[in-house]
Order: sequence, then structure tokens, then C-alpha cells
Amino acid sequence: MSKQTDIMEKIVALCRRRGFIFGSSEIYGGIGGFWDYGPLGTELKRNIKDAWWFDMVQNPPPGPNGTEYQMVGVDCSIIMNPKVWEASGHVGGFSDPMVDCKETKSRYRADQLSVIQGRDADGQMFAFTSDDEESEDKARKKAAKYFKVSVEELSSATSVVPLDSIDVAAFARILGPDAKEVGTLTVPRAFNLMFETYVGALQDSTSKAYLRPETAQGIFANFKNVMDSTRVKIPFGIAQIGKAFRNEINPRNYTFRSREFEQMEIEFFCKPDTSMMWYEFWRDTRLAWYESLGIKSDKLRPRQQGEDELAHYSDACTDIEYLFPFSEETQELEGVAHRGSFDLNAHGRASKGKEDAFAVIDDATKERFVPHVIEPSAGVDRFTLAAITEAYSFDENRASPEFMKFHPRLAPIKAAVFPLVAKDGMPEIAEPIFRDIKKRMPCQYDAKQSIGKRYARMDEAGTPFCFTIDGQTKDDGTVTVRHRDDASQERIDKSRCVEYLQDKLGL
Ligand code: ATP
Repeated sequence: MSKQTDIMEKIVALCRRRGFIFGSSEIYGGIGGFWDYGPLGTELKRNIKDAWWFDMVQNPPPGPNGTEYQMVGVDCSIIMNPKVWEASGHVGGFSDPMVDCKETKSRYRADQLSVIQGRDADGQMFAFTSDDEESEDKARKKAAKYFKVSVEELSSATSVVPLDSIDVAAFARILGPDAKEVGTLTVPRAFNLMFETYVGALQDSTSKAYLRPETAQGIFANFKNVMDSTRVKIPFGIAQIGKAFRNEINPRNYTFRSREFEQMEIEFFCKPDTSMMWYEFWRDTRLAWYESLGIKSDKLRPRQQGEDELAHYSDACTDIEYLFPFSEETQELEGVAHRGSFDLNAHGRASKGKEDAFAVIDDATKERFVPHVIEPSAGVDRFTLAAITEAYSFDENRASPEFMKFHPRLAPIKAAVFPLVAKDGMPEIAEPIFRDIKKRMPCQYDAKQSIGKRYARMDEAGTPFCFTIDGQTKDDGTVTVRHRDDASQERIDKSRCVEYLQDKLGL
């Protein structure tokens, strides 16, 4: 097992043991691609959503060169008129080319398979799932045997290419990731990722509807409502946080690719000639936001999409990626896309019969234009997982080797108060301190078990500070403050606990 897989396993175990994340409906054997957040995970996820809402909607950063802009929010229904999804292109196009294995019955996204091939044009090829170390190791071992070289020598005898680049006529020579026989992979076929349901009593094509695969379309569908009911003027953004559903073929890597997940999306509307300026602004703003919440810049990578990757209507797109322990390559946390006027044009055409139905007029110049859109689209669950993996720390020299170094804003519990023993007047001093802190921030009180065990529990929950009331407190009125990150201790006056936390946490 590689070091990275080992870390991921430790993280998953801690998340389950301490109630960050559970498998959905585990008592019935679970259900692939669905997850439940436990008490600590719920607080963490809520802190992430609250930080995003506060920093992007209620108190957004100053615009480029001091340009004024406004941000407002919406909270739209999950099921919408299916015409929304026809206009947006999801009904026709929201599909990934999929490859099935006829032998193992597994289904893969074609763009997520890679193939090891030798120099010989007629030789066998070995497929594996691109960001899955175990799958790659297996394929390398099989390929080494076939090419009669050691695993170490394999890279000089072979090359790794994406499955997409292989001519379908050569699929007969590919050994599927878990297959025993060669040639069991089908050619890539489209598969729609939207979950279908029916609205009302009748279940036929007229009542068919979809669970939204993104929150963005609710924002576009309400563009005019928001303009007509508020005083917002271009440039402005509409934000939404909410659930989205995608029937992912191969949900994996813990919560990273789930079938039900939450998004935090902004559609920012601006004049076409300012759109590149706003695109750069949002790209930089979003990157800085992750850094401000403790994601180290060496693991966070903005990746500008190449011309060949861009959607036909898009002028630019940057994926903000993070290096998760489950892969050697960075993976998308958020996409910041320049979408031009594609979405408003599409909804104008489909709902009003006119491409420019959602055009606006510039007050100063009287110019009429369909706004351009910049879309920073982030996944709550992916950032929650990044925050967890970033926070996970292991130091075998500590009494509590596993600890979670959450940024103070994200920490589910900010402080804990412990009487060293549940007698000798210590609880009487500890309880008022606890009540005082609890009024201002999430705080826990614990009087049971040894003090070491109590610190260890708080370390695993990622609680930045613990206050311990001990024998000395009665004599000189001081308490011990114990720091999560280096396990160091200091003493402060018992009346200063709240002030100390406010100062240290910057809250
Ligand atoms: P991917 O290429 O990884 O499937 P995407 O490019 O299709 O992602 P978008 O449609 O741009 O993703 O969605 C915006 C954000 O929503 C993503 O950056 C990600 O954070 C989140 N997201 C998308 N699909 C999933 C999923 N299956 N599970 C969890 N989060 C997701």
C-alpha cells in the first residue's frame, strides 16, 4: 500500500470514528455515491457554506480598480420545469461517453481510462482508471508480465496514453481494468447523468422531470425576476448554495465524486467589454479565498483550460484544483468559467422566442446588450474533503498522534473547557467559563476520563484551544490553555478566556 493510500485510509477511518462522514444508509449496506455528514462534519460543512456566503455575498471583496458591484442570493427549487434542462443543453448533451466491460459489468467514463501500450502495433494493451493508484499498479504488473520486463523497466518499454486516443478498431486488443479476457471493453457510448422523476400522479413522458444536476440554471431562470424585484444593476452577481444530483457512473474517491452533492455557485453578469476583467477578478478572488481558509498554495493549483478543452461558447476557464491524497494529479475543486452570453441567449430563445429577450440597457450610454456571465462554480463537499485532508496531521511523538489542524473559521468546535477532576470545586469554576464561551462560539464541556484522553478527542475534532481548570486555579485564578497544533501549554487568568479566544482565533 502506498503512503498516500495509507493516509487516505487513516482519514476515512478518523472521519467515520469521530462523526465527520458516514456512508449513507449504512445499516442496509449503504448506497454507492451517497454520504451523510455526522455532527462534526455537519458543523464543518456549515462553516464552509457560511464563510462562502459571508465572503462572496454579504461582504464581497472590492471590485477590480475600485469598480462597484453588487451580490445577491437566491434559493431555487431542485425540480424545475424540464424545459429549463432542454434549453440549457442538459437533456440533449449532459452525457459522458461511457465504456462498459462486458466481462466484469463495470462501467467507466471514457475520459477517465488510460492505457499502457507497447511499441508493437499489434500487441496487447492494458487499461486502468487514471486517478486510481491501485488500478494502475494492477495494470502495470500485468503489462510487465506480458512484455517480459520488470515493473521498474516497464516505462522504457511502454507508454501510457488516454483511452480516448485509441482507435476503436483497436479496442479488441485492450484488457479492461479488472477483466481476465482481452477485448471486453465496449466502444464509448453517451450516458445521461440526470436523475429522472415524475411530477404528480401520472407517470408518463408528460410528467417527467429531473433532479437538478447544477444550481446554476435556477439562477439564470430568475435573472429577470431578480432585476425586476431589486435595485441591482450590471455588474452584479447572483449566488446560490444547494444540492445537485448526478448519476455518476463511477462514484469514487470518498466524497469527491458523489451522486448527491452541494454546490456554491455564482453567476456574475457584466458588460461584454468588461468580461475578461471580471473573469480574472473572480479567478483570483476564488483562489485567494481557499488560501485564506488554510489551503496551502503548493497543493492548490489554478489550471487554465487549453483552447481545445473550452466549451464552444467559452472564452476562458480556470479549474481551481487541489492535490488530494488519493491521486498523484490535482483534481477540480471549482471551475471559474467565462460563459459569454450563452445561457441568457439560450433561455431567451427557448422561453420567449428571442435570443436577446434578456438584454439590458446601460443607463449611461443607452446601449442594449445581453450581459456576459462569469461563473465561479464550487463544490461544497469537495472543499470539505480538501479541508479535512489539509487539516489531517500525524505526529507519532504526541500522546494524541492524529490531530486536525483546521483553520479557526472552519473548526467545528472552537474551544473546550475541562475541570481536571470532577470534584474539589473545579466544576464550579469551569461551568461559568464554559457558559460564557458558548454564548459566542461552539464550545464543549467535558469532565470525564483522563485529561490526556480529553485532549486527544479534541485534537481529533480539530478544536484549537482547551482550557483546563486545575488545583492552581483556586490559588491564583489562572487556567491552563492547551494549544492543539503543538500541544504546548500556558496559563492565563480565568477571566480572560473569551478575550483570549477572540484574539487568537480572529473571530
Ligand atoms: P468533474 O469534471 O470532476 O466531473 P465538472 O467539471 O463536471 O466536474 P462542474 O459541472 O463544473 O463539474 O461542477 C462545478 C463543481 O461542482 C465542481 O467543480 C465540483 O466541485 C462540484 N461537483 C461536480 N460534480 C461533482 C460530484 N459528482 N461530486 C461532488 N462534487 C461535484
